[in-house]
Amino acid sequence: MQFIQKMLFYMNGRYGMDEFSRVLLIAGLVINLLSNFVGGLIFSVIGIAFIAYAILRVLSKEKAARYKEYRKYIQIKQKTVTFFQRLKNKRAQQKVYKFYTCVSCKQKVRVPKGKGKVKITCPSCHHQFVKKT
Ligand SMILES: [Zn+2]
Repeated sequence: MQFIQKMLFYMNGRYGMDEFSRVLLIAGLVINLLSNFVGGLIFSVIGIAFIAYAILRVLSKEKAARYKEYRKYIQIKQKTVTFFQRLKNKRAQQKVYKFYTCVSCKQKVRVPKGKGKVKITCPSCHHQFVKKT
């Protein structure tokens, strides 16, 4: 009990754990683990740097600066998730649709697959072109 109370007292006024620190910690551990197989000292150093950064963030008293980092992390995470969702969405659509670029305005045009030769009208500039789908 005494140890827990000491820890709570020590953590008072400090930033504490957040998702970014948790990700850094896990990434650091994974990189360190992989360094055993890859055998590179550089991986080990990078892994330790990740873990050290996570610990420094948790123990930091500059809450505003850590929160700013956390916000940046959330932004990057959101952009990454959106990028992969769009990629996945496009892959699913490529099974059903064929994509062309309008020669006149570079607008991307989506047409259903397997309809033979079709006259495509660009929805943006109304330029017409014939393509096989
Ligand atoms: Zn066009």
